[in-house]
Amino acid sequence: MEYPGNLIVVAAPSGAGKSSLVKALLELDAKLAVSISHTSRGPRGQEQHGREYWFISPDEFRAKVERGEFFEWAEVHGNLYGTSRAAIEERMKQGEDVVLEIDFQGALQIKQLFPYAVLVFILPPSWEELRQRLTRRGDTAEEVIERRMANARVEVAQAHKFDFVVVNAVFETALFDLKAIVHAQRLKYASQRRSKSAVFKALDLP
Ligand code: GDP
Ligand code: ADP
Ligand code: 5GP
Repeated sequence: MEYPGNLIVVAAPSGAGKSSLVKALLELDAKLAVSISHTSRGPRGQEQHGREYWFISPDEFRAKVERGEFFEWAEVHGNLYGTSRAAIEERMKQGEDVVLEIDFQGALQIKQLFPYAVLVFILPPSWEELRQRLTRRGDTAEEVIERRMANARVEVAQAHKFDFVVVNAVFETALFDLKAIVHAQRLKYASQRRSKSAVFKALDLP
């Protein structure tokens, strides 16, 4: 499938800082849009339906799977998560760049579907720091934190399949790295040919 917009996929173990980084990235970059996933888990803290996620029941989720409404979906930490076609197709057709904040299973599915997607893995600086961030966030129960810590080891072992790795030790440094990746993606030949079509035409470039 070919769309004019760039697709940036960001994965990380829960608590590594993915959502905070993507949120900051979007605030700096008006040409980026984030895909809002569907999930079968309940809202956490201040989360709102249609803002962080579309919160739906497991049955509704499975019905959407049956109808082929997802580009990818996966079970993560015992809940179902998916990226719907509706969430990204329209934006990509308009030539907007779209960021997906999804788990590694979903990221690898997206790469199969859209080989030009750029995959970024965010690492925490250490296991101790990851646990502290999950605890500090304060909106998840102790057993949920334990499950996420155990899953984090499995997830981190997949980082080598990604195009880029960002270590989120100092937030501003990690944000700078993420911005650089988005910028470099936009400088790729195919991307420049689309956004600078007049220049390419003037130079008789294919
Ligand atoms: P996920 O667990 O990977 O999906 O991350 P979520 O987006 O669901 O979790 C959001 C958590 O991070 C909430 O506790 C927010 O208060 C916190 N958070 C989100 N954005 C920011 C931010 O820009 N700065 C800070 N300090 N915290 C944030
Ligand atoms: P994720 O989306 O990967 O689950 P979050 O973005 O929710 O992670 O971040 C988890 C917690 O860690 C949040 O409370 C966030 O404010 C904090 N955090 C994120 N990046 C850093 C950082 N570089 N240093 C310290 N705390 C951070
Ligand atoms: P959380 O419950 O902490 O918001 O998210 C848990 C995990 O599910 C994170 O790793 C997050 O990236 C992943 N996730 C969120 N949305 C999607 C999605 O649409 N597809 C997939 N595959 N994973 C998702």
